[in-house]
Amino acid sequence: MGSLLVIALILAALMTWRTLSAERRHRLAAERIMSELAAIVGEEIARRTIFEYEQFGFSLLRPLLARGLRDGRVPSAQDLRQHAALSVRQASALVDEVFVADFAARSVAPPLRSDLQQWILENLETVMAEREQFAVVRQIVRVSLRDGDHWIAYVRPIPGTRRMAGIVVRSAALTEYAQRALERRAPFPVTFGDRLSQRDVYLRIWRPSREILRTPGAFDPPMGRRFRFPDELGDVLGGATVECSISRRVVPAVIPGGIPRGGEAGPLAMLVGTICVLGAMLLVLRRARLLDRLRADFVAGVSHELRTPITQIRMFAETLMLSRLPSEAQRQRSLENIAREATRLSNLVENLLSFTRGERGTLHVVRTNHDVCAIVREAVASFTTLASHRNVCFHVEAPEECIASVDEDALRQIVLNLLDNAVKYGSSGQTIDVIVIPQDDAISVIVEDEGPGIPADERHRIWMKYYRLEQHRETHVAGSGIGLAVVRELVERHDGFCLAEAGSRGGTRFVVEIPWRRDE
Ligand code: ADP
Repeated sequence: MGSLLVIALILAALMTWRTLSAERRHRLAAERIMSELAAIVGEEIARRTIFEYEQFGFSLLRPLLARGLRDGRVPSAQDLRQHAALSVRQASALVDEVFVADFAARSVAPPLRSDLQQWILENLETVMAEREQFAVVRQIVRVSLRDGDHWIAYVRPIPGTRRMAGIVVRSAALTEYAQRALERRAPFPVTFGDRLSQRDVYLRIWRPSREILRTPGAFDPPMGRRFRFPDELGDVLGGATVECSISRRVVPAVIPGGIPRGGEAGPLAMLVGTICVLGAMLLVLRRARLLDRLRADFVAGVSHELRTPITQIRMFAETLMLSRLPSEAQRQRSLENIAREATRLSNLVENLLSFTRGERGTLHVVRTNHDVCAIVREAVASFTTLASHRNVCFHVEAPEECIASVDEDALRQIVLNLLDNAVKYGSSGQTIDVIVIPQDDAISVIVEDEGPGIPADERHRIWMKYYRLEQHRETHVAGSGIGLAVVRELVERHDGFCLAEAGSRGGTRFVVEIPWRRDE
């Protein structure tokens, strides 16, 4: 049975381990899917921003600038903002300034801030030429100056000519276009339908010099990805850093079953619970085994205890019947022996009866006023015959009279059991003290022997049913292990308590205390 429990424990541990590792794998896979989705969403927003920028911004202004350049009159920012076409007026939100650069004359009109103008004259022609050579359509350039990044959108209607028209892009425009790109529709693959929306995304795009877009909330690393936009996205967003994560709320819509909740606490709590249950079962099992063993000892002990007096009684009775004893004194002694063994038998039977009643819960005491000292003296007197063959004497110390409400038979049985043990386990020739002390709130009965004593750590166990000290289980001293259990039961029925302690003469002192209750 014990090994079955151990196997159950191992199986429970194995199952917990498997559950934990399956959960961990599931969680990692789910987080990976979510972070990949976040990367897709981040890149989608970048592409849309660039699309917005082109489609609703510069692509509407480009023809006007190109025509103006050819006609010799490029519209100013003011002209664009007041343009007849609504789409142009809207696109003019992109424009900070409009300028025309002449690389041959090395001039910019109207003049721009000097560092930007200088950069344009020194670099822009080369940039344009390279892009024209490789047919790169994007006509927007990022210019990094001391105060941060600036964007120049340009147009050169006839490649190779040395004049161009351009706009200095408003720095806030990028944020507005990115914002619009996000708001236009949910940035998720269409397969998710309308189950996911913009509110389920946290997004932040920035360059070291400035932040381009930031939505409310906080980045959730397991649910997202931080990466740099690839350079092929162009100068608008290429190289910018993006942080994008998806709300945990929408995980079930993306991954069937979602992410396992509760982490490791659930399976571990179950394992601990299983261990506790199995541990408790183990304890119960051990206790049941101990009780089994003790019960077997009990049966053997009782048989032994019964056999001894019965054999003695039969032997003396047969001798008497055959009239083999010559003298009257010998006959008298035989009769005394028969009486002694009969007393022992009846004590044992009384104990067995009280014990079984206690087990069934039918042991009751009926308390009426009695002289406790008289009952104790009487019990000692009835025991002298039994004790005499071990040369044991009794020293009784008790007041003349001491009336208390007790169950007479129960008290007698208590004292007889203690005396029986003192005689059985004490040395032969010893003196047993029996003391009755009336106190303020209780009456104490003390029985102290000169035996080997009981080890301190065993003193609380001897009151358990069937329990016997190891050394007595091994020896010929007959016993059933129920005497003290009966004593305790009877004392408790009197609301009292009993204990065993080291005696003053090396043996054991048993103390029984019964609270006063004098019936009127
Ligand atoms: P038993 O029938 O075995 O005497 P008890 O319940 O009366 O059963 O006692 C339980 C055990 O306590 C005994 O078996 C013995 O080992 C120990 N014991 C009881 N009284 C004494 C004593 N006076 N001295 C030493 N050991 C004792």
